[in-house]
Amino acid sequence: MHVYHIPGPAPMLTNTYLAVDDGGTAVAVDPAADVQQYRDSLAAHGAHLAAILLTHGHYDHVGSAQALKDATGAPIYMGLADAAHSRLLPMRPEQIDHGLGDGQILTFGGLSLQVLATPGHSAGSCCFLCGDVLFSGDTLFAGDIGRTDLDNSDPDAMAATMQRLWQTFIRSQAVQVLPGHGPFSSMAEELAGNYYLRRYGAR
Ligand SMILES: [Zn+2]
Repeated sequence: MHVYHIPGPAPMLTNTYLAVDDGGTAVAVDPAADVQQYRDSLAAHGAHLAAILLTHGHYDHVGSAQALKDATGAPIYMGLADAAHSRLLPMRPEQIDHGLGDGQILTFGGLSLQVLATPGHSAGSCCFLCGDVLFSGDTLFAGDIGRTDLDNSDPDAMAATMQRLWQTFIRSQAVQVLPGHGPFSSMAEELAGNYYLRRYGAR
């Protein structure tokens, strides 16, 4: 699998990704950049888009989802709790082809992604574990976590999510963390140095 980083527009500069398997099957994670960037990257790698995966429904992560679906026919996957059709959470329920549930395994060509429901930053937040890569959305950042003071946020749920991530990865730390904003990290670094993971996980 190859993962290509496609930054979204300023000022949010959301990290968005295309994951492509050796056979040319691709998934887009949080498409927020211009649709043409995904089409160019797909063409450059001889790949076709099989799915659009949204870590959560915030506007800065879903901006191109519908246009990319229209352009490629790829279905949209997202936690249905985030389909609120509000300014912050613009997706409508009818735009979501498949809701996401904890523990689900999504398979597209040679790509297999495990869904981890990680509520807290938003009620429908999920992370996707694909091999040794975790697409962590706005749940886990390098040295930080997502905000929990927004509509649809829940600090208690975030604390439980941190505990869950700790328990899930403490024995399998060789995981690259590709977050929704900011620098990339690794689970080993986060387990060692992320204040929130340590505070809520190690209790
Ligand atoms: Zn967010």
